[in-house]
Amino acid sequence: MAEPSTSADAPAPAGRYAPSPSGDLHLGNLRTAAIAWAAARTTGRRFLMRVEDVDTQRSSLESAERQLEDLAALGLDWDGEVAYQHDRFGAYGSALESLRAAGRVYECYCSRREIREASRAPHVVPGHYPGTCRSISDAARITRRAELAAEGRTPALRLRTDTETWRVHDALAGDYTGEVDDMVLRRGGQQPDWAYNLAVVVDDAWQGVDQVVRGDDLLASAPRQAYLAHLLGLPEVEYVHVPLVLGPDGKRLAKRDGAVTLREMRAAGRTVPEIVGLICASLGHPGVDSLAGLAEVFDLGELPREPWTWTPDES
Ligand code: GLU
Repeated sequence: MAEPSTSADAPAPAGRYAPSPSGDLHLGNLRTAAIAWAAARTTGRRFLMRVEDVDTQRSSLESAERQLEDLAALGLDWDGEVAYQHDRFGAYGSALESLRAAGRVYECYCSRREIREASRAPHVVPGHYPGTCRSISDAARITRRAELAAEGRTPALRLRTDTETWRVHDALAGDYTGEVDDMVLRRGGQQPDWAYNLAVVVDDAWQGVDQVVRGDDLLASAPRQAYLAHLLGLPEVEYVHVPLVLGPDGKRLAKRDGAVTLREMRAAGRTVPEIVGLICASLGHPGVDSLAGLAEVFDLGELPREPWTWTPDES
């Protein structure tokens, strides 16, 4: 892969790991973090850490601290200070204002139930917002807004999209076209949190991230994010969506699979080099048991294209 170009005064482009602090990192998260780190470190990029605590209900600082400790214990290092999304709300507000100025933002008063019911209509793509509040009259808006306010709720803010699909390029999946709908930019209800899609796009651009390595459960979100970046005039990023780690039942690795977090695995007697060794072996590098060692042999183009099934008790 070509080295990213740098100039004397611009910082080198960056890769990043961006965990949501809502629980301890498990082997799948750690593996993705290791890949993101190696992909950045072997291509002259900076490697940045961003705590995605935009969901204020589910996130905790304690969880963020535990995750950062675990990543450091694995041997992963990052450049500069950790960024926290809770410090970035002003930037999300500015991005929202620029979309609003372009006529791209509307209030949505729908409850989840209303969306579910309206989505059953034959012309609606499953899982998409059916557009109920996109074109309601001003009078109806005033009524709905007042109804919500009486319940102490704020309307959500949605993006007025003008496309149904968007194409991105992924280093592993190739060209990928995915659906785009009138996504939420800021949640409504009693807790008007910023939406993940907006936060991620604004922060990647702000941090100079040009390589996004993450689990392939987020591949379907990439077209929405790339479209949003396009509307905001932000640069495109290179996507690398890494296949997930599956448990013995073939489903995404989870608590039910036993000792799966770094802390649980260490408590069960495994050492850090053993755990890093498992990750490296899963990437086709048996015998490598440190991240420094991984950086010596890492090749993005050679990453496995299939999920890794891990059976805790047997390996
Ligand atoms: N915070 C997201 C997660 O932990 C990852 C977002 C991203 O890497 O873009 O699932």
